[in-house]
Amino acid sequence: MQPLLRTSLVMLIDSHCHLDRINLDNYKGGLSEAIAAANERGVQQMLCIGVSLANIQTVIEIAQAYACVFASVGVHPCDVKDGTATEEQLKLWAAQDKVVALGETGLDYHYETESKALQHESFALHLSVGKQIGLPVVVHTREAKADTLALIKEHGSLEHSGVLHCFTEDWAMAKAALDLNYYVSISGIVTFKNAEQIREVVRNMPIDRLLIETDSPYLAPIPYRGKPNEPKYVREVAQFVADLKGLSLEKLGERTSENFHRLFAKAKSHLANE
Ligand SMILES: [Zn+2]
Ligand SMILES: [Zn+2]
Repeated sequence: MQPLLRTSLVMLIDSHCHLDRINLDNYKGGLSEAIAAANERGVQQMLCIGVSLANIQTVIEIAQAYACVFASVGVHPCDVKDGTATEEQLKLWAAQDKVVALGETGLDYHYETESKALQHESFALHLSVGKQIGLPVVVHTREAKADTLALIKEHGSLEHSGVLHCFTEDWAMAKAALDLNYYVSISGIVTFKNAEQIREVVRNMPIDRLLIETDSPYLAPIPYRGKPNEPKYVREVAQFVADLKGLSLEKLGERTSENFHRLFAKAKSHLANE
């Protein structure tokens, strides 16, 4: 396994990226080089996210190959039509050493309206398995506020909770998530001109509930908007959020990393045993 690099004074964690999908054209050394480029910019850990039955094994293998990468396993609401995971499968994947969360799961009524019932069923299963085995859940929610909150309330765990990733909703939704002991993760969208609603959420949000992410290869922050995104750009997200909160980049990195390790406690205990 490639060892952990601790070179930078800044400690940033990309809480949501799809390393199996990032563009490696600029990296002759492949994924190792892209991860090293992130490490050099202070991005010391990342959570690689599973989305479908087809990619979960790859995501687990990436996490096993790099000490600084952890994995989350689940089926994305836009992928449920191609097959959902069973309770047994989720538990088997989750038992792997580097797997620290379930998801991404959730509800997406923007792209997928046909599969609503299946999305509900799959989301409820991820939530209840998370509750049973004590792992947090990475939640994708789009145009499905009320149902997302209702399902978390019904099936989720207050203790092991989870994160609403790539948050694009309003403060009322963020507040409701806080009441469920959830975290909110901010992506590069916060840097976009029309994202005032998200900036308001960041300003209102208690610092101990914020995470940062790239969601790479999607949604690169300004000034890379429109280009392929990668984990090293979580630094731009961090700087932007730090400015909104009136904190230094170092402090913002420290607080969001503490949050990450509090939520994804299995990652923390794994690092302690390194
Ligand atoms: Zn998502
Ligand atoms: Zn994602």
